[in-house]
Order: sequence, then structure tokens, then C-alpha cells
Amino acid sequence: MRPAGGRRERGPVSDQPVLDQLVAEQPRPGRSVPDPAASTAPRTQDAPGLDVLPVLTGDLYGYEQMLDAQDQRVLADLRDWLQRRVAPIANEQWEKAEFPHHLVPELAELGVIGLGYDRPGRPAASRLLTSFVTLELSRVDTSMATFFGVHSGLAMGSIVLLGSDEQRERWLPDMYALRKIGAFALTEPGGGSDVALGLDTTARREGDVWVLDGAKRWIGNATFADLVVVWAKDVDDGRVKGFVVHQDNPGFTATKMEGKLALRAVQNADIVLEGCRVPEADRLQGANSFKDTGKVLQLTRGGVAWSSVGCQMGAYEAALAYARQREQFGKPIGGFQLVQDLLVRMLGNVTASLGMVVRLAELQEAGTCTDAQAALAKGWCTSRMRESVGWAREVLGGNGILLENDVARFFNDAEALYSYEGTREINTLIVGRAITGQSAFV
Ligand SMILES: Cc1cc2nc3c(=O)[nH]c(=O)nc-3n(C[C@H](O)[C@H](O)[C@H](O)COP(=O)(O)OP(=O)(O)OC[C@H]3O[C@@H](n4cnc5c(N)ncnc54)[C@H](O)[C@@H]3O)c2cc1C
Repeated sequence: MRPAGGRRERGPVSDQPVLDQLVAEQPRPGRSVPDPAASTAPRTQDAPGLDVLPVLTGDLYGYEQMLDAQDQRVLADLRDWLQRRVAPIANEQWEKAEFPHHLVPELAELGVIGLGYDRPGRPAASRLLTSFVTLELSRVDTSMATFFGVHSGLAMGSIVLLGSDEQRERWLPDMYALRKIGAFALTEPGGGSDVALGLDTTARREGDVWVLDGAKRWIGNATFADLVVVWAKDVDDGRVKGFVVHQDNPGFTATKMEGKLALRAVQNADIVLEGCRVPEADRLQGANSFKDTGKVLQLTRGGVAWSSVGCQMGAYEAALAYARQREQFGKPIGGFQLVQDLLVRMLGNVTASLGMVVRLAELQEAGTCTDAQAALAKGWCTSRMRESVGWAREVLGGNGILLENDVARFFNDAEALYSYEGTREINTLIVGRAITGQSAFV
């Protein structure tokens, strides 16, 4: 043991770093509680005694242990695939701003698409499992998580919640298998936070066909999606309706947005609809006003909160691994108090955020989750994420801005999560309205 207050002489770095010595002196945690500092693995550790799932370094309270063994197995398979197939190429895809299409069939085989929806022969998985799937994807590659969230959450969720039985049967089987990929087009060049007040994109009915005109912006997956759920205002009754537009519908064009500094592997598009003709059969039969669009957004807003926990957890784990091996002044920087302060702040953010979204998942499972509860989680967790990824970058010094160390990717990707599906300000206003009874939107 190091003498208290004793001055250390500069010399060769010890075989057993100070950090390990200190950790070895601490009481060991219980069987199912992870001890992140004891890990020698950079990203995960094997916790002795746990049957299925290695406990994450960033899950100090062992929240994943709330899943039963069967659900842990789903997550273990996903984690294994992400580590083998996604992690090694995530930075390269990000730098090239290319989506890894070759991985889509493999993702489909994991069976995690649309896991939260009831379907014949396969009841819906628990909300906790589907949420941990989102966390797991985000913790390794937030771009892959966003592709997944747009397809499985926003696009499939629109059809599950608002499609007719016939439409669900027509579109969903191919979407579960990722044979057909979905996108969700709500945001417009002139309408982001205020889309609920009205859309410029119009829908005009001509017999059995609708004619769509307008523009959409920021639409994830839209350059290659087979089915794009487009929201437009019916010129006759002024209500917002949802249309499933196919990539080859005449009058539909999607152009990739360039120069993006977050989620670069996600293909966001500018969409132009010019006299785009959509059969009445492709109008979502249960979407009759913006309130219905809001049902989909409430479903997915919680998912972005989960994604932000994964993003900051990935950054924390990379920073911790770095701090354990990077040496300055003759010892690992993880042995410096100020560096430990950053690491522990990050872990606090991750742990508190995770506790919040676990409860959110329980409320969603019970069907009692309110807009304010989802909005508070989205706004608060993404704010904590933004702090955490900044501290992670700081721990890496100059190396924190190099893609090869992973943290730079999480740092940048956090900016998109912070803004999409409701900015912090908008989520604050939703919660503010709920707790005061006063709307402060305008
Ligand atoms: C990477 C990425 C992917 C996306 N993917 C999709 C997608 O697949 N489909 C889709 O439809 N959309 C998508 N979006 C759009 C996203 O949902 C919007 O960016 C978001 O809703 C914010 O809108 P905006 O960017 O137009 O910002 P604006 O609405 O222009 O807001 C600008 C700023 O003003 C603030 N502000 C606005 N109104 C108020 C107010 N009343 N009080 C206080 N502050 C206010 C905002 O909080 C923000 O800080 C994506 C966006 C990004 C960045």
C-alpha cells in the first residue's frame, strides 16, 4: 500500500498501476454488481456468476440484470455481432459518410427489428428489452442505432399504430426482415420545432389518388428507403395525414444532404414531392390529424433518450480504457485525481440517465407514460450525454479529436441526438406546460 501523503519518485512505470492497487484494496461488490475499475477489458467485462450477459463497464448498478435470461441472450447476441461486425468499421463508415448496407441482412437475422410489436407467432418483447437493444446499438455505433430507430421505430411504428390490418399485413413482414427499409418524413425546410402548428407539404385528393406537393428535410434512410412515411396537410380539411410513398413513385426525389458533422453514416435526405401521386390504398388509414403523428413520436422519443444513454456510455467506456493505459508523469492518467473526477462525473451521468430511462420503459410498458415523462427523459438525458461526451473527449487530450479512438465519433454524434425528435428547448416547454398548466410555446 502506498504510504499516505508520501512523495513518489519519478521512475519506471510499475507493473501494477496505482489504480489497480487502489482498486484491489476496495471491498468487492456483490455477485451481480459490476466493478468497472477491476476490468482489464477495454469495453466489457466478464462478471463471474452471471449466466448470460457480460456486465457492461458503464452499467455500475447492473441495470441489465433486470432482464430475464432469455432477454439477456438476445442482447448478448446483438452485442457479439456489434463487436465483431460493426465496431471495427464504424469509424471508417463515419469518415466516408457511407452506410454499411452489407450489414443489413445480418442485422435482420438477429431478430431485433420490430421486437416491441405484437405479431402472429411472436408476442411483443418487453419494453425493457427493446430499450436495451437501442442502448446497445448506440453504445457501439450511434449511426447504426439511428438507422434502426428510423426504420424499426418511426417508420414501422407509424404503420403498426396507424395502418389498417391490410396495410400492416402488406408492408410489415418485409420490414421485419429488412427486405424493405423505411423512413419517416415529417420535418420540412421551413418547419422543425413547430411542425405541430402546420405543414407546408400538401395532399390533394383526386378520386382514388392523392397528389403530394412540397419538400422535406433531414429524412434519415430516405436515399435508399423503399417505404417513406410522408406527412402532409389535406388541402380540403386542413388535417395532417400520413402517406406511404415508394422510392419509385413518380414525382418523388430524395437527395443526400452533404457536409454533416454528426451521424455521418446515416443518409439524411432532402425530399422533393412534385405532383407525387399516391394511391388512397397507401394512405395510413388511422392517421387523421397531427395528434396521430404525435402517438408515433411519443413512442420513439423515449428511444432517443435510451440512445443518448448508449452514446455517453460508449464514450465513457472508451475514455476509461484510455485513462487506464495512457501514461503521463510516469503513471496511467487514470491515477490522477482530476482525471478520476471526470470519469466519475461521466459515470454518474450515465448511471442517473439509465435509472431514469429504465423507469420510463416501465411506464411505457404499463401504458401510462405521459408526453411530459417522455419529454423530460429526452431533454434531460441528452443534456447529460452532451456533458459526458465532452468530458470523455477531455480525458483523451488531443487524441480525443481523432476518430480512431472512438470518442470523437460519440462526441459529434451526440449533437444530432441532442437536437432531433424535439430539441432540449421544445422538450422543456412540453414539461413546463405540464407542470404549470401554462403553455409557453409562443
Ligand atoms: C441528424 C438528424 C436526423 C434527423 N432525422 C429526421 C427524420 O428522419 N425525419 C424527420 O422528419 N426529421 C428528422 N430530423 C429533424 C429534427 O427532428 C429537427 O432537426 C428537430 O425537430 C429541430 O428542428 P430544426 O432543426 O428545424 O430546428 P428549429 O426548429 O429551427 O430550432 C432552432 C432552435 O430554436 C429553438 N426553438 C424553436 N422554437 C422555440 C421556442 N418556441 N422556444 C424556445 N426555443 C425554440 C430550438 O430549440 C433550436 O435550438 C433530423 C434531424 C437531424 C439533425
